Amino acid sequence: MPEEVFRNDLIKDIVSKYRRLWALSHAESVLSWDMEVNMPKEGIEERSTALAELSVLSHELLLKPEFLQLVDKAKGAEGLNDYEAGVLRVLDRSIRIAKAFPPEFVRELSETRSKATAVWTRAREKDDFKMFEPWLQKIIELARKAADYLGYDEYPYDALLDLFEEGLRTRDLDPVFSKLEKELPKVLEEIMSRSWAPKEHPLEKEKYVTEDMKAVNNEVLKLLGFPLGMRSRMDISPHPFTTEFGIKDVRITTRYEGFDFRRSLLAAVHEFGHALYELQQDERLMFTPIAGGVSLGIHESQSRFWENIVGRSKEFSELIYPILKKHLRFVSKYGVTDLHKYFNIVRPDFIRVEADEVTYNFHIYLRFKLEKLMINEGVKASELPELWNDEMERLLGIRPKTYREGVLQDIHWAHGTIGYFPTYTLGTLLAAQIRAHIIKDISNFYGLIKEGKFDPIKSWLREKIHKYGSIYPPKELLMKSLGEGVNPEHFLNYLREKYLS
Ligand code: MG
Repeated sequence: MPEEVFRNDLIKDIVSKYRRLWALSHAESVLSWDMEVNMPKEGIEERSTALAELSVLSHELLLKPEFLQLVDKAKGAEGLNDYEAGVLRVLDRSIRIAKAFPPEFVRELSETRSKATAVWTRAREKDDFKMFEPWLQKIIELARKAADYLGYDEYPYDALLDLFEEGLRTRDLDPVFSKLEKELPKVLEEIMSRSWAPKEHPLEKEKYVTEDMKAVNNEVLKLLGFPLGMRSRMDISPHPFTTEFGIKDVRITTRYEGFDFRRSLLAAVHEFGHALYELQQDERLMFTPIAGGVSLGIHESQSRFWENIVGRSKEFSELIYPILKKHLRFVSKYGVTDLHKYFNIVRPDFIRVEADEVTYNFHIYLRFKLEKLMINEGVKASELPELWNDEMERLLGIRPKTYREGVLQDIHWAHGTIGYFPTYTLGTLLAAQIRAHIIKDISNFYGLIKEGKFDPIKSWLREKIHKYGSIYPPKELLMKSLGEGVNPEHFLNYLREKYLS
């Protein structure tokens, strides 16, 4: 019998009442997953209505006076353990955010989002920024208003950052990005001139049959120990994602484009990293507010760890080479060194989602800079395309010729998610930071990858990060598990070591 984690009666009462909210979010996850994976096109109207109604119901349940009173009362309790304090922290934060916005603002935001997203889709197809501009301007104004409702100490942008990464502030990010701005161009320049990493590779052009690639992904996931069929599934969606219905049912997707097979494979490995975080939690957190990964940044560190640190290592190429040769006949024309090079092409390019691990953070830095300008400095939507292109040219030496390659490429701003992008950089940096710590504790880290012995690596991640769910806020979790906050030095060292020595 596992030890009970909740002992305080008020907390026990809160957790038992919370179960209904948990059930609603479980249902919402299933409906959203189905919408991306199975739903016929015209189901969209009924599905979005169902989801909107469920979210109203959750909102009502969370803000029910008896529930609020209970949470308030528990805040006065003494001697709470970490689990109990975590429950209160997570609920308090959700309640604060849920209370911040008046209902008419929530409605306006949600309607603007849907319309802006629809316009963005057409504007991107037609490469017409003018069409999207008034909607983007409206989104910026609403985001600014949201920041005012939420409140902030220093910059309005901080209120938005905190929505996506608990406790994250501009003052945390500024030094991280200025370090990258100073060092990363030098590293990139050196890589471009003298690394073994190629700028392109013939394997990018090789075509595959979906069924063959599915077989590859399934075998690779099996090697990684992904519990397919028991506690997880892998399906197909145009934009790969992970969703957790709970600790024992975590779904991932990947995509099959018919060429450049690393995109499908590394997407599956990336999503595996997200899924593992959910699967390896302490099961006693099940049904409670502290179940689930703590933040987007920490989550992305897990996916990037498996995708970049493990998946793009030489040893991983050696491990999966026989699987690839078995299912993709063209792989036999190439050696294992070729395979490793193919996984590590470094090439400054316009599109963020296709960027390699070296240039990726430039894309995020650009967006971070522009978001600060629009939220803190009142820069207008109309000014963004020029600013985007200038910044791109300054950072990567290339200038977009179309809006599609520039300011219109991501869905985030159309969705109204301003302040989200920096969590991607946190993830990339933290993955390298975790590597620096794990290789100290597991001296044959790369040897284990080569032999496909992932259990010690998975245990390390479970003990340091996964098992805690959302008990600790991200910054505290990092101090506890790594003894330091986000430190870009590890990422820079990793790049130098991997590409330049
Ligand atoms: Mg991800």
